[in-house]
Amino acid sequence: MNAVIVGSGPAGVSAALYLARAGISVTILSRDGGALLKADKIENYYGFAQPISGKELYEQGLANAKRLGCTIKNEEVIGISFLNSLAVETTAGVYEGDVVILATGASRATPKIDGLSRLEGRGISYCAICDAFFYRGKTVAVIGNGEYALHEAQTLLPVVGSVTMLTNGAPLEVEVPDSISVDTRKIVSIAGEDVVTGVTFADGEKRAVDGVFVAIGVASSADLARKLGALTEGNRIVANENGETNIPGLYAAGDCTGGLLQIAEAVAKGAKAGLAAIRYLREK
Ligand SMILES: Cc1cc2nc3c(=O)[nH]c(=O)nc-3n(C[C@H](O)[C@H](O)[C@H](O)COP(=O)(O)OP(=O)(O)OC[C@H]3O[C@@H](n4cnc5c(N)ncnc54)[C@H](O)[C@@H]3O)c2cc1C
Repeated sequence: MNAVIVGSGPAGVSAALYLARAGISVTILSRDGGALLKADKIENYYGFAQPISGKELYEQGLANAKRLGCTIKNEEVIGISFLNSLAVETTAGVYEGDVVILATGASRATPKIDGLSRLEGRGISYCAICDAFFYRGKTVAVIGNGEYALHEAQTLLPVVGSVTMLTNGAPLEVEVPDSISVDTRKIVSIAGEDVVTGVTFADGEKRAVDGVFVAIGVASSADLARKLGALTEGNRIVANENGETNIPGLYAAGDCTGGLLQIAEAVAKGAKAGLAAIRYLREK
């Protein structure tokens, strides 16, 4: 029995400690240290007489998970799907888990592009695997400049007519195959009254598209959850008090589920998700 945890912050590591101590093989996949690396001094978390830096707290957490036998891989997660079990896809490979816990922290903000939120669900999508079918043979764009955007573009490619990656003024961070075109100009607005009809760039030129897929930066928990049909509310994953989502075997914990957005709560939610995952695996 094995668990794959996405995120090595307080929520992911807390879940890992419970799972590992229950004899379950745990792989933690993470891109970096998450929110803690941005926290200079923490003085409202239990157990430290003096303020501790976020970096040190993060490193101590990770060291404990390693000590308990967790495998830690520094890899960015770009997709998740059902194979024989749940399959988490990273830039380096695929990890199958009997359970998966999403603990990827608070989602980044949606880019401030005029028309983007207004046309959500009417030509604006956040999930290629979910919505590609609606754009069969059509012209679509993916906003983003990294691995995740490329992954979304490649998911769309076999279904749609053509795909362009729009980097919105950011430098392209990946090598893109010839089958996908790239436009690096800054976007000012998404055009369309009732449905998306195009994208307008800062130089005033407009590109006609039928759909725009947003894949900026790294896949957030909500992005990943949507790929499996898990319920989300905005950028928050909907999970019950035990971290259970509506998908059996898929759990969510920490800032990605909303709430207090503090370490104490992330640790508690990770513990509950870990324990719920253990119960699920034992009953399986
Ligand atoms: C500047 C700052 C100061 C703060 N100060 C305090 C404080 O004093 N006290 C306090 O209690 N809280 C503080 N917080 C909040 C606290 O850091 C968070 O509530 C807590 O870290 C949330 O834990 P988490 O595990 O849910 O997410 P995070 O700690 O954000 O961890 C998310 C993990 O997911 C990984 N990840 C994300 N996307 C992917 C992907 N696609 N593929 C692979 N890995 C991915 C990240 O690399 C990271 O490992 C602060 C936050 C900030 C930003």
